[in-house]
Amino acid sequence: MYRTHTCGELRTGDIGKQVSLAGWVQYFRQKGAVSWIVLRDRYGYTQVVFEEGRSKPELLEALKKIGREDVLQIQGEVIERYSKNKELPTGDIEILADSMVVLNHSATPPFTIEEESDGGDDLRMKYRYLDLRRPPLRRNLELRYRVSRAAREYLDAQGFFEIETPFLIRSTPEGARDFVVPSRMNPGQFYALPQSPQTFKQLLMVSGYDRYFQVVKCFRDEDLRADRQPEFTQIDCEMAFVEQEDVLRIFEGLFKDIFKKIRGLELKEDFPRISWEEAMRHYGNDKPDIRFGMKLCNLKVEGHYEAPILSSLAFKVLEEAPSILAIRVEGGASWTRKQLDELTDWVKRPQIGMSGLLHLRHNPDGSFKSSADKFLTQEVCAELGNHCSLQAGDLLLMLAGPDARTRKAASELRLHLGNMLGLRKPDEFAPLWVVDFPLLEQTDDGHWTALHHPFTAPKPEHALFLNQPEHFGKIRANAYDIVLNGTEIGGGSIRIHERGMQEAMFAALGMSREEAQEQFGFLLGAFEYGAPPHGGIAFGFDRLCALLGGQEGIRDFIAFPKNNAGRDVMLDAPAGISPEQKKELGL
Ligand code: ASP
Repeated sequence: MYRTHTCGELRTGDIGKQVSLAGWVQYFRQKGAVSWIVLRDRYGYTQVVFEEGRSKPELLEALKKIGREDVLQIQGEVIERYSKNKELPTGDIEILADSMVVLNHSATPPFTIEEESDGGDDLRMKYRYLDLRRPPLRRNLELRYRVSRAAREYLDAQGFFEIETPFLIRSTPEGARDFVVPSRMNPGQFYALPQSPQTFKQLLMVSGYDRYFQVVKCFRDEDLRADRQPEFTQIDCEMAFVEQEDVLRIFEGLFKDIFKKIRGLELKEDFPRISWEEAMRHYGNDKPDIRFGMKLCNLKVEGHYEAPILSSLAFKVLEEAPSILAIRVEGGASWTRKQLDELTDWVKRPQIGMSGLLHLRHNPDGSFKSSADKFLTQEVCAELGNHCSLQAGDLLLMLAGPDARTRKAASELRLHLGNMLGLRKPDEFAPLWVVDFPLLEQTDDGHWTALHHPFTAPKPEHALFLNQPEHFGKIRANAYDIVLNGTEIGGGSIRIHERGMQEAMFAALGMSREEAQEQFGFLLGAFEYGAPPHGGIAFGFDRLCALLGGQEGIRDFIAFPKNNAGRDVMLDAPAGISPEQKKELGL
């Protein structure tokens, strides 16, 4: 038996016991006649002590060859520790060693394997197996496992079953590029790796498996901006004979259950629901962080003045801007010139792309002071203040420019202010549903694409518009996203389940009948054999885990992630293949 206990297990109640532990050398220290080793395993740390006079001489001799990360098996007696360590669960005891077996030596690790490592990102990725020894990563993987278990338990109790779907398939459009795999047996032909199991889960509904789920890898060949991974995990779900309300209710339940089990948080209230339109209007994006207020104040939108006073000003900047949006900062009238200059620089950065930031202070004495006093008279300011519910002592920040850019900039500025003011607390969770997404969106070149994916159904009352291109922009879908703290963590929709409507959708997306038949004949065919109404959702599992762990990045919640260039630096993948392999594959 390698061990009787783990390194996290022994307490004062075990004093006097003969035990055997196995683990890695975290730390080694010698002082006079006494030496200590701190042994680490997945469960914790235990101190082992060696002492001249009390320990065998050969043991003391063997100690000289011990280094960090060696793997040892130690036998000895549990004794009370002289100077106790309150930080450590095992800190009241130590092991007086009477035998030590070196199970394996370790080369000197390239970085410290501690709570905080001194290794840079690349080094840690290259030696991922060592980085994974560090407690923060271990805790993350443990949390990940607990979240998947909680999800499985909940879904199982609701009658869902987990069904695996294939990885070697034909393309499933989810808006990214496919990873492709050449087929040796079918030279010149390729499989695509699934961007999601979307069409398979719909086929399972046709087959009568009315509650399906799968914790599943998805593959999307995207530029890896903003902490994405080319392969990531979803909790993918589908249900038959449901309406949007049923789906939201079941999965809100899943969330509440996960929060309770993982964070001990009872989310009693129903999650707020806001329409996509409201989200865009009040927050400037479709994944609002509602941990804090500071909603956008719409002064002018797409050329239409919502604050009529502005239309009477001869102020070119505002006249020429199609959109003017403002944010009220409570108590911000006291902000210094320097602070405002910094904010102005911030909105002028190329990523935000605004030409400036107007501000308006509502002084405690009731007067106004703006950055464009010449145009914004006291009367105009009072009117604007009124429009945006400005109180004495508040500050109004205004952005003016092209519609989409200004809305995006206002959304970013709101989040930036939220960060500055400490309003985005990592231990606060504010989930919500964003509903009623548009079905289609127009690209810059005038084409229409599916905002969610081509299998999403229009709202029944908008179905007719699918044959009327002039109305495409108006079509809304029973499509929904679940958003947590400014991050989209899941999305889904009620699907099309009739061949005719699916064909109309493909046609709206510019696909010919032949193309639709060639790519999606299997689905169109299935819809002819009694496809039930159905809908579903999928959650980004890696991100959900990161948020539950109070962190922003997903990488350290994945055992073996890729870097920003999509590389596995440990394996050095992707890599070339041999000429023979290429030939065999017909490449
Ligand atoms: N397949 C969709 C996605 O990956 C989710 C869904 O519609 O269920 O985003």
